[in-house]
Amino acid sequence: MSKNMQIADVIVDVPTMQTNRPYTYLIPEQFQNDLEPGMRVSVPFGNGNRLIQGFITKIDYVKNNDINLEKYKEIQEILDIEPTVNEELLQLADWMAKYTFAFKIKCLQVMLPSALKAKYDRIFKFIGNDKTSAIQEIFGNDNELVESKHDLTPQKIQQLLNLRKKNLVEVSYIVKDKLTSKKVWAFRPILEKDSYQELSRKVSKNANRQKLLLELLQRLDSTKEYRQLEYANKLNLSSVDFKNAETKGWISRFKVDEYRDPFANIEIKRDEHKILSKEQDEAFKSISRDVNNHVNSVNLLQGVTGSGKTEVYLQVIDNVLKKGQTAIMLVPEISLTPQMINRFKARFGSNVATLHSGLSNGEKLDEWRRIEKNEAKVVVGARSAIFAPLKNIGVIIIDEEHEDSYKQEEMPRYDAKDVAIWRGKYHHCPVVLGSATPSLETRARAQKGVYKWLKLTKRINGKSLPKVHIIDMKEAYKDSPSPDFSIELLNEIYQTIQRKEQVVLMLNRRGYSSFVMCRDCGNVVNCPNCDISLTLHMDSRTLRCHYCGFEMSPPKVCSVCKSTKIRYYGTGTQKVEAELKKLIPNARILRMDVDTTRKKGAHQKILDEFGSQKADILLGTQMIAKGLDFPNITLVGVLNADTGLNFPDFRASEKTFQLLTQVSGRAGRADKDGNVFIQTFNPDHYAINLARKHSYEEFFYHEMKMRHMLNYPPYYYSYKISVSAKNEEQVVKRIYKIGNELKGILSAQAQILGPAPQGITRINNRYYYQIIIKYKKEEKLEEYLSKLLVSSQKFERNGELIVIDRNPNRFE
Ligand code: ADP
Ligand code: ZN
Ligand code: ZN
Repeated sequence: MSKNMQIADVIVDVPTMQTNRPYTYLIPEQFQNDLEPGMRVSVPFGNGNRLIQGFITKIDYVKNNDINLEKYKEIQEILDIEPTVNEELLQLADWMAKYTFAFKIKCLQVMLPSALKAKYDRIFKFIGNDKTSAIQEIFGNDNELVESKHDLTPQKIQQLLNLRKKNLVEVSYIVKDKLTSKKVWAFRPILEKDSYQELSRKVSKNANRQKLLLELLQRLDSTKEYRQLEYANKLNLSSVDFKNAETKGWISRFKVDEYRDPFANIEIKRDEHKILSKEQDEAFKSISRDVNNHVNSVNLLQGVTGSGKTEVYLQVIDNVLKKGQTAIMLVPEISLTPQMINRFKARFGSNVATLHSGLSNGEKLDEWRRIEKNEAKVVVGARSAIFAPLKNIGVIIIDEEHEDSYKQEEMPRYDAKDVAIWRGKYHHCPVVLGSATPSLETRARAQKGVYKWLKLTKRINGKSLPKVHIIDMKEAYKDSPSPDFSIELLNEIYQTIQRKEQVVLMLNRRGYSSFVMCRDCGNVVNCPNCDISLTLHMDSRTLRCHYCGFEMSPPKVCSVCKSTKIRYYGTGTQKVEAELKKLIPNARILRMDVDTTRKKGAHQKILDEFGSQKADILLGTQMIAKGLDFPNITLVGVLNADTGLNFPDFRASEKTFQLLTQVSGRAGRADKDGNVFIQTFNPDHYAINLARKHSYEEFFYHEMKMRHMLNYPPYYYSYKISVSAKNEEQVVKRIYKIGNELKGILSAQAQILGPAPQGITRINNRYYYQIIIKYKKEEKLEEYLSKLLVSSQKFERNGELIVIDRNPNRFE
């Protein structure tokens, strides 16, 4: 064995025995000089030498005097031809593991599209001219070998990889997509345009449908695939017409994944830059100056709804592309609609890659590879798109920066904003955080000059923001025909529909739902596994637990007092819909909530229908508050503004204010004036009153005063530590032990809330207890938490789960 052998540091994936310390493996002779940091390999681990996956983080040569090579185990197999994680992302994973108290392997895995974690096949294609006998031996008469089909041994694969180095073999991946996606019919024109013309002239005069189809085929591009259903609908044809066309040899027909590249066939109109308003121009210039000078600034772009923030993003990105750089644009998952994506594709065409949950695993991998190969230079996506493997980033933009969803609620508990700022530093580029209602943390940093503060104070259409009316439900419901609607709101809905304009109604469902209660003894039907009442679902007539999924049919008799007077309480969207139908029978209503959007693409379908005026009223939960940009909406109604306020959480007011402002912004976006009606039992609450006045600034100062008084963020940093297990006593013991240890290391300036049971103490038969730490600067805290992370795995083997959450979204 030569003495200059290579060894590799590998971060391995051993469940419940994670460590952030890499293990060193010997790189066997046949892989020497083939491996790089960021590649995934499989390695033997533990006494049984079980094969597990890992990431190479470092490659080294064995020092000459270190001849005891036997102490190292050998890397078994290379899983990637090229590094899946580049040098920058390796460093980012290091930082993230420390910053969020996560295992490094989890940080590496979260950066990759899930398809890479799933099974996939490698395809080796011979691309040389003549096969030498050695190549002939591997390929035989084939030109393509599929890893799973051809039973390739590690030796053969190694030979193939060597051939790849000599440019004789090309390697590609296909995902063995476990998601069985729905297949739909597609077709492709296979004749010349002239032939279709010719045929069209020849078909009999009565064959209208054939004529229609032939005319269509003349217009379509024979290099593309088209969905049959789409054109059948457009031209009023049936699937038989397409089948006949296939039989006649006019088209080829085949099945495609329903969701495969949802935009391939949409002809997107190119869209030109708009002339920026003065405010937009100032923001654009300020950010672009930092792009041009490679200044790593963080910018708050605070602009009222409809003020043209997105147009600023588009032009900043355009400037970045012109300089040969790349850009990331994050939006909340729910606003990642085709409408939004089209806005980017209209400007940047195929330079745009999108990453979101509407894509299949295969599609995500395709997009990811396009980014990695520098084929796509603008990435538009939800939270995890912040890890897009772009090089030479010129700007990172996070829209609606106040959204909770930028924080991941499982390990690694990272905040995409923190990651954006880290990558901004790495690439020496500006980061832009945009919002109409910035989080207090961000706005406070802008105030202090830590972030640059850019403002768009006016709506683009020159209109003022919609007029907001507050309705006191303590009074209003008395003379209303319905407990959910005031007369005023009902009248407005009625008149808006009469004018052929559209209505958006929001039911604030945070911590609020329909439930079943006995009228005689007050007994509420609770989930047997959780400390929460079951939610009534009208469509399936079941009671369901939203935490653990438990389901039962509503009882006819009370389990406590045997009374039969069971009543349905609460205001679920289904119930409101039923009521609305009774109150305004001719109204056409679309409902959007978790039940109606469960199916893929359902969300978009509802929006499309509403956009094309197929309904008068869009009734939904929080999910309708964001991103809707429809000119005909002139009335927005909020049925219950309060439910969020009642939450025992320090951000309750902030979240309520943000939500009311967001949903109000849906009204009057074009040339018609908008009106908003907010029904509430707390008409004097500042969050509601200041939302009425559209006064973010007043809200900010008021809320900051409250936070200051109570020592809450942004004046203090925070951690939430929680423990859960099936045995409550075990949980209580552990959390008190942690609490005591913390008291031993924290300074007098820090504050501990708890230990206390969580808001909902029991979920799926596990008990949850927590400690909140509020602090400014603690020397010993991080070290303590790192140790807690490591020891937590020991506890995990006893069924105890410990979670460390830095800057948690909620304290409850
Ligand atoms: P925001 O993101 O702040 O809610 P948008 O960027 O969506 O606002 O802009 C609202 C509407 O105004 C969009 O329809 C957009 O096309 C249009 N718009 C934005 N900027 C301009 C401009 N400078 N001139 C004309 N129309 C504009
Ligand atoms: Zn009862
Ligand atoms: Zn439950």
